[in-house]
Amino acid sequence: MTCDVCDQEVSKGEDATWLDSIRTGENLYVLVNHARHIKCSPSRAQYIIAPEFGLPVVDERPEYDKRLRDPSEVEELEREFTNAWYELQENIKEAQWCSVVSKITECLR
Ligand SMILES: [Zn+2]
Repeated sequence: MTCDVCDQEVSKGEDATWLDSIRTGENLYVLVNHARHIKCSPSRAQYIIAPEFGLPVVDERPEYDKRLRDPSEVEELEREFTNAWYELQENIKEAQWCSVVSKITECLR
């Protein structure tokens, strides 16, 4: 699938819906009919604090900007999103994608 923001192909490791699915343990794919890069979704990307992900992202929109939120809430979200992002990358690297994803949903092909 292509990204609904930048129109480029979205790989699983860059897919914001997979990130959310891992983070919440729910199959959110059934709820969306588009793909989006994690980096094209600053509201999520701002919570990923990982050198491998790249420079920290800032979401300037006041309704999403983490700098305007309660720091303890932000810390929690950073932990959740960062762990989910690492889990996503690990699963792809180790080619265990189907077994891990099947916890959430049927393996997409
Ligand atoms: Zn994109």
